[in-house]
Amino acid sequence: MPLRATKRGAARTPLSGDADVLICGASFGGLAVARELRGSGARVLVLDRYDVGERQTSACGIPTSWLDALDLRRSLRQTFDELVVHTPHADVRYPLPWSFSTFDYRTLCEDLYAQGDAEFETATVTGRAGETVVTDRGELRAPLIVDALGWRRVLGAGANVQPPEAFLSRGLEVHPGGTGDDLEIWIDRSYIRAGYGWSFPADGELRIGIGSFDPRDHVREPTVQLASDLDADAVRYQGNWIPHKLRPPVQDGVGFVGDSAGHCLPLTAEGIRPALYFGVALGRELRAIVEGRATRNAALARYAGFHAAHLWHFTWMLRVQNLIPRLPPRLLGAGLRSMRARGVLDWAFGHYLEICHPRIVAGETPTLTAPARAPAELSGLASGPRR
Ligand SMILES: Cc1cc2nc3c(=O)[nH]c(=O)nc-3n(C[C@H](O)[C@H](O)[C@H](O)COP(=O)(O)OP(=O)(O)OC[C@H]3O[C@@H](n4cnc5c(N)ncnc54)[C@H](O)[C@@H]3O)c2cc1C
Repeated sequence: MPLRATKRGAARTPLSGDADVLICGASFGGLAVARELRGSGARVLVLDRYDVGERQTSACGIPTSWLDALDLRRSLRQTFDELVVHTPHADVRYPLPWSFSTFDYRTLCEDLYAQGDAEFETATVTGRAGETVVTDRGELRAPLIVDALGWRRVLGAGANVQPPEAFLSRGLEVHPGGTGDDLEIWIDRSYIRAGYGWSFPADGELRIGIGSFDPRDHVREPTVQLASDLDADAVRYQGNWIPHKLRPPVQDGVGFVGDSAGHCLPLTAEGIRPALYFGVALGRELRAIVEGRATRNAALARYAGFHAAHLWHFTWMLRVQNLIPRLPPRLLGAGLRSMRARGVLDWAFGHYLEICHPRIVAGETPTLTAPARAPAELSGLASGPRR
């Protein structure tokens, strides 16, 4: 059992008081919000049950341009210009129009935190009553509260929907030592009925895992199997539930960001850059409030509108997520092979990056529109089944 560095015993003193902005959750979403509030003059307090960067929450793969946009290159472990997809009937190597990188979680979180001027305390958040957040160390009050606590959405109103009924996928991975040159994906029912497997090398470590779109399907056994097939040890487990449907971004005056708002992209389960992207957007709105440029209602309504502008893209990706497990494996293999054409690849990956593009960091407000024309090879996917 790994020993967590969370403050214990005498160091776990009671906590109370007021802040201008209380950010619950110190991972991608919460730290991006805090970064945007730097120099605003507000007292910003970030809470997490673990120290910053202490507990890795993903395979830590991201488009490299996001690391550059946020000046987080120090955390970069390994960069990939290609994606390799394995199916029972085809192995396809896609040259990517933009690169993907794995990074070190602790370094990224520490550097992102250092870009803000928020205070930090370890505390487990258990609930909220109005402007009071209840933690295991005491109660804290703030007029502006952010839930960046992940899929549990601890500060949401009412009873939270729990798996397996909730719109959640599940993911589990192991982190053996080892090296590799390829970013690899497996879409293969012999591993998982609906979902995919992955191996993300990270300079001396492999992050090998299985994600299931169906929360009822277990992922431990297939994860062990994939690791074994890759001659890797199933050690150092890391897993969690992953939302695959958007949830309300504002509720009862609280802003939700990242997994707590369902910002993880369906189909790929890429949730880091959406958490950063929506974190930047929410942080800017909170900054407008504390600087007196907007009322709380107006700013949070603008954030809700920004979130809603992405609904079409998230819905489209959820349809593809639901469709792919239903395709006969031979047809899937043929479809993946047909995507090798340069024009199709650039179109598909270009639009994919556009959904949560890092240009938001430089202050550009994305103008999201539904793609006007899909290449013929992809047009059938857009009308997949709903769930
Ligand atoms: C196995 C696996 C692999 C993945 N790989 C990738 C990947 O390679 N790339 C990618 O883009 N996405 C990946 N994802 C998805 C990604 O991890 C999430 O979408 C992303 O972490 C969401 O960021 P977040 O900041 O919203 O929440 P989280 O990263 O989940 O952070 C939530 C924070 O809140 C804290 N917290 C939770 N509850 C409490 C509480 N009650 N009190 C105090 N603190 C609390 C946690 O300690 C944590 O720091 C993966 C997911 C899984 C499960």
